[in-house]
Amino acid sequence: MTANEAPTQTNFVKQIINEHNSSGRFGQKVHTRFPPEPNGYLHIGHAKSICLNFGIAEEYGGSCNLRFDDTNPTKEDTEYVDSIKEDIRWLGFNWEDREYYASDYFETLYEYALKLIGDGKAYVCELTGEQIREYRGTLTEPGKNSPHRERSVEENLDLFERMRKGEFPDGSHTLRAKVDMASPNLNMRDPVMYRILHAHHHRTGDDWCIYPMYDWAHGQSDSIEGITHSICTLEFEDHRPLYDWYVEQLGIHHPQQIEFARLNITYTVMSKRKLLQLVSDGIVDGWDDPRMPTISGLRRRGYTPSSIRDFAERVGVAKKNSTVEVAQLEHCVREDLNAHALRVMAVLNPLKVVLTNFPEDKVEYMEAVNNPEDASAGTRQVPFTRELYIERDDFMEDPPRKFFRLAPGREVRLRYGYIIKCEEVVKDEDGNVVELRCTYDEQTRSGMPEANRKVKGTLHWVSATHAVDAEVRLYEQLFSKENPDNVAEGETFMTNMNPQSLEIIRAQVEPSLVDAQAGTHFQFERKGYFTVDSRYSVPGAPVFNRTVTLRDTWAKISKQK
Ligand code: ATP
Ligand code: MG
Repeated sequence: MTANEAPTQTNFVKQIINEHNSSGRFGQKVHTRFPPEPNGYLHIGHAKSICLNFGIAEEYGGSCNLRFDDTNPTKEDTEYVDSIKEDIRWLGFNWEDREYYASDYFETLYEYALKLIGDGKAYVCELTGEQIREYRGTLTEPGKNSPHRERSVEENLDLFERMRKGEFPDGSHTLRAKVDMASPNLNMRDPVMYRILHAHHHRTGDDWCIYPMYDWAHGQSDSIEGITHSICTLEFEDHRPLYDWYVEQLGIHHPQQIEFARLNITYTVMSKRKLLQLVSDGIVDGWDDPRMPTISGLRRRGYTPSSIRDFAERVGVAKKNSTVEVAQLEHCVREDLNAHALRVMAVLNPLKVVLTNFPEDKVEYMEAVNNPEDASAGTRQVPFTRELYIERDDFMEDPPRKFFRLAPGREVRLRYGYIIKCEEVVKDEDGNVVELRCTYDEQTRSGMPEANRKVKGTLHWVSATHAVDAEVRLYEQLFSKENPDNVAEGETFMTNMNPQSLEIIRAQVEPSLVDAQAGTHFQFERKGYFTVDSRYSVPGAPVFNRTVTLRDTWAKISKQK
């Protein structure tokens, strides 16, 4: 590599592809696919797989298919199909016209099965599910042959056709591959290829009452689509010999399966079954609840597509399962929003300030910078009046030595405005502070002689006469344990729910936010990044989700002044 040549990021998946490209195994072609089962909404783990599959295709000038692995009619739904497509598009990937369904291949798969039967490589079995498990043996003991293993080809063909015609009840017959009941790999011990299921399918309706098992459908679907690299998660490593066996017996195109480690994140669960339980038990507000690790939840929370793609890139692909800190995900969105979110002022826990020497009806407009990281974002005018709100915890009646915010007799600067001094503290009969009476120094606003006078603290504020009352939703992790699945005997991950994961408060926000559009991102100065909620927010009555808190922002603002 020469000095000015950028090092290309590589990983073990790309290394395998590079080897194939030099050996010419697939004639330089790279064709991947993302194969979700439409039985739930996509989560951040799927996002990693999407970024990998679409990303690799893009990088090698190949293509990536979207294929729904819809072989399980009882768990699948078009609602899931639609949400999956929306989420992939939102992440910024495009499958163009390559939208496929395993169910489109049911007829071809049936013909493949007939071929295996004809070659003496598959048979109809009448053992029950439980018996099949018994006969399978264990890791240390070989299995036993099914009593139906040696049926004639004719008998198998006849029974299989009758299975398809609906002559037998659910569970009475299966079609099994005739591989090896003594194989050290349990997946090779005559796996079931078809089961009888008199169930309605969301695409094929009532055309079929036999359905292919995932392991039978998956590899053949990849082959039919001419996939070169079937990228999947590690738990399918032991299934690879079976997938290889099927395509070899059938003599059809043979993709290379490559396994990588699943993404796990601290303080969350990442299984559709568990996420579905949270939704159906009403623990969360739907699949897109902003606390969910789903793509739709992250979107509603305020995550951006580029922050998620960046995260996927940074965690990389590995051969060994591990858990990534949720802080890494938060770091990625903070970085993206820091560059792009508009800065505004919002007071989450308001305390009234009255400037006794400021005229009653006067409104001054202060010029505020929309994004210090991006000059093109421009400025806006923020109204400043006699009555203001500041954050309750920016005032202390009896402050410790290192408290540089407002206190009796102390001065602070109001961001983009004047230096004020606290002259009097007004309390209610219970002794709670309800109002601060302050004076402002006219010489200290921008353009005035003392504009640069230094004080130790700078506070955000809103005009009490112009502020908009808004709902703000503050989130914590959905689970209180780093690994929610780590539970005692008899308990489930549900015992680790964090009861304080959502706090709803009323805030006072600057008037520019009154009609803020759903999905818009803001930095509430000193308070974090917030996004207008897509379900509850309406023009005139905005609702904000806190995406993530800020770090070190206080120190930064103080330094600027
Ligand atoms: P879950 O266990 O959450 O139900 P799944 O594997 O059953 O997930 P699929 O719809 O089959 O869900 O997944 C589609 C693709 O996404 C698969 O290729 C799978 O390997 C990948 N995938 C699923 N979960 C993760 C994860 N946590 N990390 C990386 N890839 C994942
Ligand atoms: Mg799966």
